[in-house]
Amino acid sequence: MPLPWGVLSVHCPFCGADDTKVIDSRLVAEGDSVRRRRECQACSERFTTFETAELVMPRIVKRDGSREPFNEDKLRDGLQKALEKRPVSIEEIDSSLNRITHRLRSTGERELPSIVVGEEVMQELRKIDHVAYVRFASVYMDFQDISEFQDEIRKLTRDGD
Ligand SMILES: [Zn+2]
Repeated sequence: MPLPWGVLSVHCPFCGADDTKVIDSRLVAEGDSVRRRRECQACSERFTTFETAELVMPRIVKRDGSREPFNEDKLRDGLQKALEKRPVSIEEIDSSLNRITHRLRSTGERELPSIVVGEEVMQELRKIDHVAYVRFASVYMDFQDISEFQDEIRKLTRDGD
C-alpha cells in the first residue's frame, strides 16, 4: 500500500535552492507526521520540515463508470434509511460510519468502486441489525434472482446470533 504522504516541494529557507537532501527522518505524533532533517545542497544549511499524512477519502467509481467525491452524508442517509424504526442508537450508527470511513481511507486507494462501499455498509449492518442488513442488501445488491437473496438469508441464519 503506498503511503499517502503529501508531496512537498522543499526550498531551502536560507538560499531558496530546491536541491535539498533528507539526512534524517522519523515519525512523530504517533506516526501521524514525519519529521525530516534536511540539508541544502547549495549552501549546506540544515533545517527541519514536518510532513503530515494526508489521508484523503478515495473517489467513488459508480457502476456506470462515472466518478463522484466520497459523500459521508449520503452514506449516513443510506445507513439511517436501512435502520429506520430499528432499535439502533445514533451513537451506534455514528460509530459504524466511522469504521466504514476509516477502512475506506486506510485502503490508500485514490478511487474505489461503489460496490466496495456497499460491502462495507453490509458488513456493518450485518453486525448491528439483521433486519436492516436484509433491507439494505435487497436494495443495494440488486439481487438478480430470488435464490441469490435466499442464499444471503441462509448465510445470515447460519451465523446469526
Ligand atoms: Zn540553501
